[in-house]
Amino acid sequence: MAFDYDLFVIGAGSGGVRAARVSAAYGAKVAIAEEYRVGGTCVIRGCVPKKLLVYGAHFAEDLADARRFGWDVPDCDFSWPTLRDNVLAEVDRLNAAYTTTLDSHKVEVILERAEVAGPSSVRLASGKTVTAGKILIATGARPQLPDFPGVEHGITSNEAFHLPALPKRVLIAGGGYIANEFAGIFHEFGCEVTVLNRTDVILRGYDEQIRDRLLQISMAKGIQFRFNAAFKAIEKQADGSLKVQLTNGAEMDVDCVMYAIGRVPNTEGLGLEAVGVELSNGAVKVDADNRSSVETIFAVGDVTNRVQLTPVAIREGQAFADTFFGGKPTQVDYGCIPSAVFSHPPIGAVGLTESQAKQKYGAVRVYTSDFRPMKNVLAGRNERALYKMVCEAASNRVVGLHMIGPESAEIAQVAAVAVKAGLTKDAFDQTVALHPTMAEELVLMK
Ligand code: NDP
Repeated sequence: MAFDYDLFVIGAGSGGVRAARVSAAYGAKVAIAEEYRVGGTCVIRGCVPKKLLVYGAHFAEDLADARRFGWDVPDCDFSWPTLRDNVLAEVDRLNAAYTTTLDSHKVEVILERAEVAGPSSVRLASGKTVTAGKILIATGARPQLPDFPGVEHGITSNEAFHLPALPKRVLIAGGGYIANEFAGIFHEFGCEVTVLNRTDVILRGYDEQIRDRLLQISMAKGIQFRFNAAFKAIEKQADGSLKVQLTNGAEMDVDCVMYAIGRVPNTEGLGLEAVGVELSNGAVKVDADNRSSVETIFAVGDVTNRVQLTPVAIREGQAFADTFFGGKPTQVDYGCIPSAVFSHPPIGAVGLTESQAKQKYGAVRVYTSDFRPMKNVLAGRNERALYKMVCEAASNRVVGLHMIGPESAEIAQVAAVAVKAGLTKDAFDQTVALHPTMAEELVLMK
């Protein structure tokens, strides 16, 4: 049977674009549908604009520290509209670059919503139905919203990039990646920030000592935390501010509420259940080849809710293309995926936390380095970095590395190569320190 396309991808984010482009390069006839903007969450309203805001925010500390390094820094003003518009212009540039890449690989870009109409057919919003040998669902995820009266008065990270003005007082719901990253960003811009979480744990899944250090530093900077708290209602006041009522009876007056309580896969209204695609908690259930319960329908990225990280979605898209159009069967290796939280200061980590390693191996050895980076000492910034190495006791193999401090994310990417390669603590110790750096602590740990 002849199909209109060999591959039809729904969703032009990181995973979808990679799968489409590589499959086309292997000679497949490919179309990709996108209802919003080519680039997806990471490029349009996630990692990229967020990281640019993190850079922008960090100047607040850099400018203050510069005075201790002899620079005569006059009182500086920060213009949110300038940064916001420059960031959004960069997003536009990347959106165009992604589209150009797809065009140059002869991928047909269809800028409208698409839904699955059958195991090998897709219906476009315009009403047209097309057929494809394989359909790839790469529709990503969206911010989860809580449910209480007045929830509509809050925003999510999607809207944070477009704020007309910075809020004086901001309340961030959640204690995960987005909450901690935006808490740092808003705080550095001079907003009064409160983080509110349903439990007393921030960054669940990260090493306990590292999380505690971030909490301690964040509180010392002036970010407030309210734990074991939940919303009862939000009312908009005549002056535009928001009156927030919590279930414990407490009330707060703020100018902005931002929800960062996780992301839910975009599977609604895609026609998936009707054709027999099995979902699990709203995510497309796939096997190690990214195949759903329907032979011809596949899924990659956040919509599968495996590991919600861009580089993982890209790997999945690449593996899908290699396997089904490149003749190179490939499965993604999910071991030792490094991750970072771009908080102030950032966290970088790879491998198992101390408690995960204890559960897996029983006996572990833990080495730590708790130090004040040289730059912080001269700057008079009382912020200590913490590095932690977790080793399997029997072999002394490093099974986890966790860091909080300046440039931790950059260091974690390099260190992840050693952890992924299964190197032992001895291999780290045998490596001569590169002095003076912060990363040298990794080879000097006691
Ligand atoms: P996270 O999963 O990181 O954190 C969710 C937070 O919300 C947790 O503190 C959790 O509390 C709380 N929570 C979960 N469900 C509810 C609920 N129903 N009501 C109230 N609170 C709730 O989510 P984010 O939104 O911060 O980020 C989404 C995903 O995006 C991340 O998991 C990550 O994969 C990705 N991301 C990655 C980044 C990076 O790599 N630097 C940056 C930003 C996002 P508790 O744990 O106490 O139960």
